[in-house]
Amino acid sequence: MLMTLSEENYLKAIYNISTKTGEAVSTNLLAEAMETKASSATDMIKKLAEKDFVNYKKYQGVKLTKEGHLIAASIVRKHRLWEVFLVEKLNFSWDEVHEVAEQLEHIKSDKLIEELDALLDFPRVDPHGDPIPNKYGEIQAKKKVPLSSLKVGEKGVCVGVKSTAKEFLQYLDKIEISLGIELEIIEKEAFDGSVIVLYKDQQKNISAMAAANLYVRKT
Ligand SMILES: [Zn+2]
Repeated sequence: MLMTLSEENYLKAIYNISTKTGEAVSTNLLAEAMETKASSATDMIKKLAEKDFVNYKKYQGVKLTKEGHLIAASIVRKHRLWEVFLVEKLNFSWDEVHEVAEQLEHIKSDKLIEELDALLDFPRVDPHGDPIPNKYGEIQAKKKVPLSSLKVGEKGVCVGVKSTAKEFLQYLDKIEISLGIELEIIEKEAFDGSVIVLYKDQQKNISAMAAANLYVRKT
C-alpha cells in the first residue's frame, strides 16, 4: 500500500491519541497534534476515510479501521524499535532519539524491521517505556501507575515516563533515575505533594510534578 509521509503521520497521530484516551479522536485534537488547522485535518481525514483507513462521522470524531490500525501500529512499531536501536547500538541518549526515529519510521522494508527486532533481542518497550506493538499490531498492556500514586513504604520499578520533554529526561539523567531502577517512597509532603524517594542507596527529594510524570510498576 503506497502512502504519503503525511498520511502515515496522521494515522500515527490518531493511533497515539486514541490509545491514550480510549475514544474517537476529535478533529481539533488531531489538528493540534499535527500542528495544523482543523480544516486541513478534516481534508486529510476525508482522504483517509476514502481509502478505508478511518471511520469518520461529523461531530463524532475519527476512528481507525482494522486496516488503518494495522498500518498505524506498524509505524509506531518501527519508530519505537529504531529508538531502542539508537540508544542501545549507537549510544544516543533517550532525549535525543525521538526526532531521528520520526524519520527512520518511514523506511519501508519488512525484512529490515524484522532483522532489527531480532538484533535487539525482541524488546517489549522503547527507551521511554512505551510498549512496542508486535508485527500483528498488538501490544501487551503492562499496568503502570504514576510514582505520585504510591503510598509511603510502597515500592515500584520505573517503567516509563509520561512526559518525554527534553528538559524532563535530562533532569532524570541528572538525578540518576532510569528505566528499571527500583524506587521506594520514604516520605510524602502533604503541603506540595513532593516525595522523598529511596533508590540506589540514596534519598532524594522529587517534586510533585516529576513524580506525576514518572511511571512505575508496583513491586
Ligand atoms: Zn519517539
